[in-house]
Amino acid sequence: MTLNVYNTLTRSIEEFIPFHGKKVNMYVCGPTVYDHCHLGHARSYVSFDVIRKYLIYRGYDVNYISNITDVDDKVINRARETGEDPFVLSRKFTESFIEDMETLSVLAPDTQPKVTEHIPEIIETVGTLIENGTAYVTHKGNVYYDLTKSMDKIGILSHQTVEGLMEGSGNRIDVENDKSYQLDFVLWKSASENEPGWESPWGWGRPGWHIECSFMSMKYGSEQLDIHGGGMDLIFPHHEAEIHQSESCSGEHPFSKYWLHNGFLTIHKEKMSKSLGNFFTIKEVLSKFSPGTIRFFIVYTQYRSTIDFSEETLKEAGRARKRLLNTISNVKHALKKAHEDGNDNGLTDLISETRDAFINSMDDDFNTREAIGNLFVFSRKINSIITSEKPGRLSLEKILEFYSEINEVLGILTEDEKPASEDVANGLSEEDITEMIGLREKAREEKDWAKSDAIRDNLKEKGIFIEDRKDGIRWKRM
Ligand code: AMP
Ligand code: ZN
Repeated sequence: MTLNVYNTLTRSIEEFIPFHGKKVNMYVCGPTVYDHCHLGHARSYVSFDVIRKYLIYRGYDVNYISNITDVDDKVINRARETGEDPFVLSRKFTESFIEDMETLSVLAPDTQPKVTEHIPEIIETVGTLIENGTAYVTHKGNVYYDLTKSMDKIGILSHQTVEGLMEGSGNRIDVENDKSYQLDFVLWKSASENEPGWESPWGWGRPGWHIECSFMSMKYGSEQLDIHGGGMDLIFPHHEAEIHQSESCSGEHPFSKYWLHNGFLTIHKEKMSKSLGNFFTIKEVLSKFSPGTIRFFIVYTQYRSTIDFSEETLKEAGRARKRLLNTISNVKHALKKAHEDGNDNGLTDLISETRDAFINSMDDDFNTREAIGNLFVFSRKINSIITSEKPGRLSLEKILEFYSEINEVLGILTEDEKPASEDVANGLSEEDITEMIGLREKAREEKDWAKSDAIRDNLKEKGIFIEDRKDGIRWKRM
């Protein structure tokens, strides 16, 4: 089985073959920290977290780098609005971002460099581009990359023509009148002395946005990355700019062998973003939904597809995840009474088939949707085997180990430390209720009265009342 990934550079699915055997240098663009991060950011970082963890699962040695843009026009403007020191403000939101990522079980990057801690080296990198003739200084003290020196690479990642890019170039391209060519992008931005900045050979100023990623990825990764990732909105100009800068500095091509881009998280079909004001911060969503539900909501879609956000779809994600967690707790319950030398009931084969199916789906450009679909089928089979047969301890333990193995990659099966309000609300689907009633029946058959009462009380708390009648069980919502 080979791992295949969609490469934006070639617009095709390719077999994943890193430059150096099992070593993978992976760089993912980090956030600009001028506010709390929203669910769209979570979509990007959770998606790449799964990709990183799957590569580790497949035996790769991954060096994962993701930067923090802690100085930028947005940071400075926000600080002006709030009256805070820009560096205090960006530190506060860096901490907020790191906290959100931890809560969502996103593994911390191996290196998470901040722009403000690398200014002298970034200035040096800009200097290298001026010396080799691919950048120029203007009378205003700005430094621009000179795209006329690498015209052949314009559109290399966006697959657009120069004319097409010119027309759409208002988007995240600085429109300055001291540029010699409209698509040239800024490497060093001059600033007035009352603005935050640093001294440089070109006067007081600060780095442009793109140069930090070229520098950080080369310093902490390699001149040639195996994977570069980010959201689709970064393809142009940001990622194309990185290619021009990095390849000009190193003389190596390609700067990154594979370019992976996550799809958007939308709300009413529009990209969730700060600038459109249609966002929910991760913290806001966490006040209503558990981290596990949020993660499931993101991972249950393949990373390149769009996810449309609504409270209802999040609730649905919570219910679907609970079905998997219920199976795990069924297995744990069965384990308490299992015989040491009990039967395997085909479980070892079922686990091995499901593992193959998981790898197959994930090898297909990290198709988490299909991988989780297989997990539902597996879990239904497990529920039925443990109710109708009585598998032995060893086989039940293997099931739990298998769930942990999957969870190492997807991170969707970790029990929440405390119930989120979604769990307390009367948000149970019919399927959940039927499943809980089934569990209560099983407990009654086994004369586990404490468990059967606990399930009934639990349901009652959620407004579901059970009636034991001669002709069977009835339930109703209050
Ligand atoms: P920014 O701080 O805006 O540069 O965003 C940081 C990362 O989050 C980038 O890779 C963006 O593409 C990604 N991102 C921002 N908003 C969304 C969204 N609504 N859906 C998916 N990814 C997003
Ligand atoms: Zn970047």
